[in-house]
Amino acid sequence: MSGHGGETGRPVARLIVILILFGLGVAAYLFGRDYVRKHPQDVPWTPLRLDDPIGRFTLRKLVALRDDPAQCRALLRQAGSADTAAAPRLGEPNCGYRDGVTLLPAKSEARFAPPNVVTSCPVAAAMLVFERQILQPAAARHLSSRVVEVRHAGSYSCRRLYGQSEGEFSEHATANALDIIGFGLADGTDVSVLRDWAAGAKGAFLRDVHDGGCDLFATALSPDYNAAHADHLHFDQAERGRSGFSVCR
Ligand SMILES: [Zn+2]
Repeated sequence: MSGHGGETGRPVARLIVILILFGLGVAAYLFGRDYVRKHPQDVPWTPLRLDDPIGRFTLRKLVALRDDPAQCRALLRQAGSADTAAAPRLGEPNCGYRDGVTLLPAKSEARFAPPNVVTSCPVAAAMLVFERQILQPAAARHLSSRVVEVRHAGSYSCRRLYGQSEGEFSEHATANALDIIGFGLADGTDVSVLRDWAAGAKGAFLRDVHDGGCDLFATALSPDYNAAHADHLHFDQAERGRSGFSVCR
């Protein structure tokens, strides 16, 4: 049978194993706590902050703001946004909004042209993050300038997908989308989705802007998607984004 050394050695060995496991447990807890503190955007249970870097759960949290318009507007204020609550637009069946936000530029932010466009609050919140973390860095990288004007073709429009007479209503019908047609830069450069998508530094800028939008919007469609999008980037916060699934074409 086993030697006398084994009889006394076994409880000691067991204690050592327990201590090692305990130590590993503590280390894992401390590492996890530190990770969550440094990467709140990458875990599902931390509250959204619009100043945080874009992470794995940012889109889901942005889309979920549709359940809590007051919280959504509070986040915009907290992030220094000048966006204001818009008057509700109701009356047309399947269309309209209760909790719209007028997109207004805060200091040093790009203005929307035409001005006073109203979107759903989740679109407004995503636009704020989009401008600061995607758009301006891309303009600096590719075009060595700043975007001062975001040119758009509107948000609210009571219509079905592709303006057809039957079928699903577009996210535009609830102002839950924005179509961007181009940008004006501080040095006078003019970028048009229709003209510049395919080539050159402006094209690279636009493609980066679209790809970045895929991490913030449930839907990000570009001229690569189909002919109906040849002249604009369509961004929306469809319900599907709640599961983190974005359509990025
Ligand atoms: Zn659109």
